[in-house]
Amino acid sequence: MRQRTDRIIVHCSDTPPGMNIGAAEIREWHLERDFIDIGYHWVIPRDGSLEQGRPADTVGAHTFGYNSTSVGVCLVGRDQFTEAQWITLHHLVSSLRETYPDAEVCGHNEFSHKACPGFNVKDWWGEDERTRTSGYDGAVPEVRQQGQRETLRDRVRQVLRYLVRLLGGK
Ligand SMILES: [Zn+2]
Repeated sequence: MRQRTDRIIVHCSDTPPGMNIGAAEIREWHLERDFIDIGYHWVIPRDGSLEQGRPADTVGAHTFGYNSTSVGVCLVGRDQFTEAQWITLHHLVSSLRETYPDAEVCGHNEFSHKACPGFNVKDWWGEDERTRTSGYDGAVPEVRQQGQRETLRDRVRQVLRYLVRLLGGK
């Protein structure tokens, strides 16, 4: 069991944009490296779904020196993340911040010379927060096609239901 959660650390899988993997594949890779389980607590595949990795209240294996005090989230890809992934990341981090109000939102690259996750997480979260405090109500942003928008809304509802269940009914 993890005693403290001071940080929410965002990673990427460092895989090409066309590679549609998820938690199952990453778990296999990590088991091959003799981890006891997948290193991350959450994985966000290219389609913007949300998959659980290691149980949320356990110590992960994703950021050397910070595992016992953080949760790890992994976006599948290395750059060019999809709109659906950004939306799911927003909802996941927002929900985690309700559970861990004092947790800092960080990127792996703040603790390592790796590029992971390939963008500045503090800038992203700051921008996201400005959008929220200026009246953003959590609605799914516009996307190009009507059908696609419905799909995304449905997906976000699924993700939120899942989070509410997982994080204990807020
Ligand atoms: Zn990383």
